[in-house]
Amino acid sequence: MLGAIEAGGTKFVCAIGDETGEIVERIQIRTTVPSETIPQVIAFFKKYSIKAIGIGSFGPIDVDLDSPTYGHITSTPKPGWKDYPFVQAIKEALDVPVGFNTDVNAAALGEATFGAAKGLDSCLYITVGTGIGAGAVVQGKLLQGLSHPEMGHILVRRHPEDQYNGKCPFHQDCLEGLAAGPAIEERWGAKGIDLVQREEVWDVEGYYIAQALMHYILILSPKKIILGGGVMNQTQVFSSIYKYLRDFLNGYVNLPQLSEYIVRPGLEDNAGIIGSLLLAKEAGQFS
Ligand code: ADP
Ligand code: ZN
Repeated sequence: MLGAIEAGGTKFVCAIGDETGEIVERIQIRTTVPSETIPQVIAFFKKYSIKAIGIGSFGPIDVDLDSPTYGHITSTPKPGWKDYPFVQAIKEALDVPVGFNTDVNAAALGEATFGAAKGLDSCLYITVGTGIGAGAVVQGKLLQGLSHPEMGHILVRRHPEDQYNGKCPFHQDCLEGLAAGPAIEERWGAKGIDLVQREEVWDVEGYYIAQALMHYILILSPKKIILGGGVMNQTQVFSSIYKYLRDFLNGYVNLPQLSEYIVRPGLEDNAGIIGSLLLAKEAGQFS
């Protein structure tokens, strides 16, 4: 048996499963501060005999194995989590190998193994929720360089009619600052789920996401793009994305049919937790 943790800003999902992606037990724990949340995580896993644990975490995180702060959450504004030694805390309590990556890299791995990009050695997984983040499988491996990618914070060109200031605490009007759930809510004065009928909302949203996808396509050339996260439940955004992406690319890159190329997650809400099981499998093999 393997353990998996999908660590998010509002909730932690903890699961027991196996390397085929089968989940046999799971719980949700509210994300408050580490001293409250982590003991509950540990208590859950103590009940099982597990071989390894995989963590897909909100970030930014330190994923450089040679770094003295490997396994830490780094510059988050979330109270209590900045510089938190996540991997160390789990290892100390449970004494098993721990795999560690971003929540979105885990989701990309899950989707490439069992989901919408199954069988492909390349895909991009993007979440549009409380924040915007993306993970990528490139030539069969999770993309990592100096650190993990931070594709949600790229700069985008303004929609000509958008006067909203932006909400990113670091960059104000980066992609996340203009297009994540909280930005939609602040710009239009209502939550995304209550703006379903407002066409202009999803037009603006598609305008920004399409620009981001254009950059990602030009730089990484993914074989499949998967869009998850709460905001993407508004499936009308997809047609706006397809329209603007066609306009922006202007025929320059040959792409498959967009409705098959840019899709919803095959694993629905389980991409991150199943990907974390796969991180556990990998950690177990290399320890
Ligand atoms: P998180 O990113 O915290 O893991 P979600 O992916 O659910 O969680 O993202 C939460 C954000 O997505 C909130 O800003 C919320 O308003 C928005 N959201 C969630 N569900 C929907 C929906 N069905 N339609 C539009 N926006 C949604
Ligand atoms: Zn930003």
